Amino acid sequence: MPKVTDGVYLIPGQDEFIPDSHAYVIGNLSSCDLTLIDPGLMGKSDYKIDAIQEMGIEPKAIKRVIMTHTHLDHIGCLAAVLQRLSWAEIWVHRLEAEPLEKGDERTVYGMEMFREMCNTQYALKPGAFTFRVNRKLEDGERLDIGGMVWEVLHIPGHSMGSIGLYYGPEGILIPGDVIYADYAIGRFDLHGARASDLMKSLIRLGELEVDMLLPGHNRIVNNLAPGYILETAKQWESFLV
Ligand SMILES: [Zn+2]
Ligand SMILES: [Zn+2]
Repeated sequence: MPKVTDGVYLIPGQDEFIPDSHAYVIGNLSSCDLTLIDPGLMGKSDYKIDAIQEMGIEPKAIKRVIMTHTHLDHIGCLAAVLQRLSWAEIWVHRLEAEPLEKGDERTVYGMEMFREMCNTQYALKPGAFTFRVNRKLEDGERLDIGGMVWEVLHIPGHSMGSIGLYYGPEGILIPGDVIYADYAIGRFDLHGARASDLMKSLIRLGELEVDMLLPGHNRIVNNLAPGYILETAKQWESFLV
């Protein structure tokens, strides 16, 4: 599992015919108060947790799982992860926590056609993505995680409860699927998505000082060019109305 910087570790996604999100572990290792972000696709729990152990991290140190959002490629292996990390809490933005608790899987699958395809491919049953959420996150909360304070940014548009996690002291942004490297952005045609919200979210992120961009897919960026996020917003402006 590559170290990105002190207190931030990446377990790269292993894409199948559906993408598998990157997972990140945040928190200072010595704190034994670590957080796993976005477990990933079905079938990826052993790969992700084994990668954590290979770093010499005790699974017991993972105290919680935070979801940037609850699309299938991020939450698919959450149940399997919790079988190995049974003590871990689940923290999700309120707007996606409430559907998860009710078993409303529209956000998980994004569209009906995809639900049918995945149910066949992975033999998933209705209710497979019903979870009790221990903490419902809100915009502006500051999370003290393993000796680091991460800010929760509600950045809807790709999904209604998408969050970014921002570590101001080093300009580290974990934006989920809202923005990627290479001027790419998350899709905005799935359940709960809205193009105009995505635009607002990009502009909001563009106001932050971001040095390191750690998205849910594709490559991560160190030394992000100044103005990169606003430039990305500008390139997509005509589509995001
Ligand atoms: Zn994704
Ligand atoms: Zn997504």
